[in-house]
Amino acid sequence: MRIRLSKPYFGDKQSLMDFIEDVLDRGFLVQGKYVSQFEEQVADFLGVRNGIAVSSGTAALHLSLVVLGIGPGDEVVVPAYTFPATANVVELVGAKPVLVDVDLETFNIDPDRMIEVISPKTKAIIPVHLFGNPAEMDRICKISKTYGLKVIEDAAGAMGSKYKGRSCGSIGTLGCFSFHPRKIITTGEGGMVVTDDDRLAERIRSLRNHGVQPRGSEYDFVLAGFNYRLNELEAALGISQMDGIQMRIDERRRLAEHYMDLLKSIPGISFQKTLPGTMTTWQAFVIRSQKKDNHSILDWLQKEGIEATVGTYAIHLLRYYRGKYHYTPSNYPNAARLYLSTMALPFYNRMPRKKIQQVVEALREVRDEN
Ligand SMILES: *Cc1c(COP(=O)(O)O)cnc(C)c1O
Repeated sequence: MRIRLSKPYFGDKQSLMDFIEDVLDRGFLVQGKYVSQFEEQVADFLGVRNGIAVSSGTAALHLSLVVLGIGPGDEVVVPAYTFPATANVVELVGAKPVLVDVDLETFNIDPDRMIEVISPKTKAIIPVHLFGNPAEMDRICKISKTYGLKVIEDAAGAMGSKYKGRSCGSIGTLGCFSFHPRKIITTGEGGMVVTDDDRLAERIRSLRNHGVQPRGSEYDFVLAGFNYRLNELEAALGISQMDGIQMRIDERRRLAEHYMDLLKSIPGISFQKTLPGTMTTWQAFVIRSQKKDNHSILDWLQKEGIEATVGTYAIHLLRYYRGKYHYTPSNYPNAARLYLSTMALPFYNRMPRKKIQQVVEALREVRDEN
């Protein structure tokens, strides 16, 4: 039996089926009551005024840059170690992603290094709460204030994560979430932008839907928008998962604790560090191998039927960015090191403890063998 890297949990399937049947019976598949309900539910949970549901986390990030008017000639600060979408959206609006190396222990952007790259062209910072681990928002917001920058939180995997009592995604100008199957809750594909700024929210709503603005009984198109809508079936999935969100988060934290308890006895393995006053929801359980490169270990786990993969990517090592900006690995040494030494282990809600044990035993063996 293979051990899956991730497996979405859908809770009470009957109530989910009831929702879906209702969507089908009503015959409204887009922009109906479930999308609005899902938006309100997420916004309430996070403590923000507005939630705008979109078709993916990438769409959420892309719309955030567009609504802030960021484009050619502008620069946006992005961590060098993140999922490629964080940097790709900056390229897509014609701006330049300026990379900043990350901390080897938290895996998050290093605020000290951020100051060094800020120029008159810098318009925004996209801190990532990587794998759910809150970035140093106090220092990031302080820097953004000093230099007049917008903060777009990439909280793709940080639904429910807390920074000093506040929800990740609710702290910056805009916050972006993903509902891809490997995130805390899933709608298949999906995402959300959240913000306390009503004017930005209104423009994002319009941009998500072709730039439309209702005028009485008619519509006008006031912006050149996109179709980045979430549909009603996806929203129904989202609602049913938000109903059990706290249970989901609590369970993830217990499973991560269990993993760490068992792994502590294997020398040369370290964990993602969370800062005091923060709480991570463990979107992924990513460990670091201090001794060997992760690829030989990943190959071994694969042979044992255990799905594991790299933590995430060093942007400057990806062909597109390497080619365009002539990076070398040593430009962002911590990101390069994390790319070569981290592993995402199987981790999901309702993961049996026996399977966690099996993964740990396999890791112990690979250490003993080599
Ligand atoms: C998953 C993820 C994204 C992209 O989200 P999609 O819904 O897959 O488009 C962006 N940034 C980070 C940090 C992610 O983990």
